Amino acid sequence: MSQSISLNSKNLNNSLNNTSDSGVYLGSSRIYSPTPSSVACRALPENLPVDEDGVIKVAPDATENRINRYQRQSASRSLLPDKRVFKCLRHKLAKNVKVLKSTEHAKCHYGDLLVCGSVWDCPVCAAKISERRRLELTRAVEQHKSFGGAVYLITFTYPHGREDNLKDLLDKQSKAMIWFYQHRTYKELAKRYQKQGRVRALEVNHGEQNGWHPHIHELWFLDLHLQDFETLKLEIFNLWTKACQRYGLGLPSWDHGVDVRGGGDAAGYIAKFGTEDKKPTVKTWGIEDEMTKANAKNGRNGSRSPFQLLDDYIDGDKQAGALFIEYSKAFHRKKQLTWSRGLKAVFDLEAMTDEEIANHKEDKAVLLAEIEPEEWKAITRTSTPKHDNRVLLLIIAENGGADAMRLFIQDLVNRYKSAN
Ligand SMILES: [Zn+2]
Repeated sequence: MSQSISLNSKNLNNSLNNTSDSGVYLGSSRIYSPTPSSVACRALPENLPVDEDGVIKVAPDATENRINRYQRQSASRSLLPDKRVFKCLRHKLAKNVKVLKSTEHAKCHYGDLLVCGSVWDCPVCAAKISERRRLELTRAVEQHKSFGGAVYLITFTYPHGREDNLKDLLDKQSKAMIWFYQHRTYKELAKRYQKQGRVRALEVNHGEQNGWHPHIHELWFLDLHLQDFETLKLEIFNLWTKACQRYGLGLPSWDHGVDVRGGGDAAGYIAKFGTEDKKPTVKTWGIEDEMTKANAKNGRNGSRSPFQLLDDYIDGDKQAGALFIEYSKAFHRKKQLTWSRGLKAVFDLEAMTDEEIANHKEDKAVLLAEIEPEEWKAITRTSTPKHDNRVLLLIIAENGGADAMRLFIQDLVNRYKSAN
């Protein structure tokens, strides 16, 4: 039994390494947006097929993605011993750890373990948080459109180089953004375009050529429908250029500095997405995904998302590990997604913190097993980033039931005992 489990998990690990190009890289020059019909397709259904981490199951490689999230979490933990991710889904909150099975999705998850709730540091928590945020955004966009409004995706970027320090760039970017929003030109513009609010998403990736690439995506909720994007782009660009100049950021270029997109040109994006990406992590990638799944998106053309740095670190790239530490420090306490004041209330959305979402427990779950302290010790201590027994145990419990899970645990306990 234990042998087949090991072989199986090895295969999963191997195939995982071949899927590193899943997801979409959306750098400053490649922004996509969905058609209204595709957004409508993804309106909130009642019974979402969500997995144990709160992520909608749409990909054929959902199990691989789930294993990958735990592997990445293990890597993040080894790099960040002082952060909460170090204890996430490891540190016990009771004597025994519970294995629970959802009666709705037949998926297993742990109970009585600490959950860190860090969208920046923890790939497991980030997946759950992002999924919830994506649903919130989808609902807001749908509602706003049903009220007759329009939603546009605005991206703000600026040039940067390999020598730039990430925290320094983020500080300047934040100041430039505040100045932009306080400027009377912006206030006049917002009035003229009948802007009701915005949602801002912070994002970064790292490129071999030009180093850190932090940037901002904003969804603007307007009552006005744009006839063309160029006029608004020009107005934003002129003010954004001044903001960048004022705070010592590189001067944005017309081609990449500001991007304005709406729902209209999404067909091109979605069509391109399907052909460009052989193994997408999600079926469609809309505005909401762009805003909330930044960390999970995989870079292209030598550019890597923060969590993709972890994949390379697992494969022995120490520099990627150092970059991840720099990223984690720079984004500490920053919010990934912020709604302008009052906007959430307009759409009647609950204000839940990332931590609350990460800790949200499913109601309909049955207790499958309790894991004794010595067993949990064996499970965690025989784990490595490449071979995380915590996630394998859940998969075995789902597929083989409680008996298979017990055999797996016993095997790990025996191995741990003989090694110590
Ligand atoms: Zn976590």
